[in-house]
Amino acid sequence: MMRLKCTVRIYDRTLLSKQRTYRSVLTISKQSDKNEVYLLLQNLKNKEGIKYKIHNNVEKIFTKFIDDGKATISLKEPRHDLIIETFSINEVIQLKSFLHILKLRLRKIGESSFPIISNLKLKNMDLSRANKLVIQKKSEYPLLRGFPKIIEELSILGLGRRSFDRQILNLKYLKILNLSSNQIQHLPKEVGCLPHLQELIIPHNKLGKSTFEWKWISQVEIRRNLRLLDIRNNEISVLPVQVGILDVLVKLQVCQNLLTKLPQSIGRLRNLKYLEAARNNLSCLPGSMRHLRLDYLDISGNPFNFQNSHFVVYYHVNEVVTLVQYAAIALLKARITYDNSTMPPNLVQFLDNATFCCVCSQACFNRYVLDYKEMELRRVTCQVKRTANTTILYECYFCSKTCQRYF
Ligand SMILES: [Zn+2]
Repeated sequence: MMRLKCTVRIYDRTLLSKQRTYRSVLTISKQSDKNEVYLLLQNLKNKEGIKYKIHNNVEKIFTKFIDDGKATISLKEPRHDLIIETFSINEVIQLKSFLHILKLRLRKIGESSFPIISNLKLKNMDLSRANKLVIQKKSEYPLLRGFPKIIEELSILGLGRRSFDRQILNLKYLKILNLSSNQIQHLPKEVGCLPHLQELIIPHNKLGKSTFEWKWISQVEIRRNLRLLDIRNNEISVLPVQVGILDVLVKLQVCQNLLTKLPQSIGRLRNLKYLEAARNNLSCLPGSMRHLRLDYLDISGNPFNFQNSHFVVYYHVNEVVTLVQYAAIALLKARITYDNSTMPPNLVQFLDNATFCCVCSQACFNRYVLDYKEMELRRVTCQVKRTANTTILYECYFCSKTCQRYF
């Protein structure tokens, strides 16, 4: 094995500085016309690669943690330590074999027909599907060594875990987290702070068993990045309104729960394309869905038994307008985007919980009309899966009687 795929972090002993960790390819190679053998380090940041002489230039090879997939090659010139990490059992075997050849080379024995550096073109393919870890057996769980810090995709499937492993919160590059078929009741707030998380897949767990408040869903990072939320089959009876402020959410899967309603805030998910809410107890749909343009909607297996079609509520309070409300009105008027990083949390919470007119989208703070209306599903979705022959009513909030008539 003269070529090794792994992650490498360079530690510069002169500058006492560590570089970022990169998915890399290490090759034992030589220049075309000379006999000198080099260690070539290539990654996407440096495709040409860095050449390290091998002969008389390797200070030490540290292999104490080789069974955990870790090793370090310490070089004399430049004074670099190459901190190597591999992830799968397969890669650990390759690492051992690679270091074996390197050690033989240091003693100038063994293999001598090394690849020529100018032929070593780095292909993107070499580095793809790199940073993925799938754990399906308890014996595969990295209890002691922890998860590799660089991974972008982590799946912990069907292990019956009751608690969320807080080590996951250290995975700053994580894009996809799949915890399907465990027994998890609670996600810590910090899940919402993972800076790159785009897909959160947690079906067949017990999220509905924890208290209603899901603090993770209000965090700034998840709000800006999450594209897929899969919380099917979790015994959830109320979906928090904050689902509606996941700004870039494309797919929401809430099938097989105990929901009687979807929050009105769903209508604020302007990027939503797939909404799957089959097999719940939905009695009506939120009128705000009028603002959605879905590709696919699944609402099959719901009773939609809300009957009271002439039930209208006119709500109007003449309370003193609070400062928070004034601030909220000003913010909405100026069309300023807001979250906890730019505005006071109580103002953000006030806006998250506000009711918006399902015709003109204006906030209805101290007055609204609540009415139940019918609407063609064709208006909100290209494709729909539903139980036949049911009339579906929409629970609609209006800012005024004018908007109520316009629906
Ligand atoms: Zn209105």
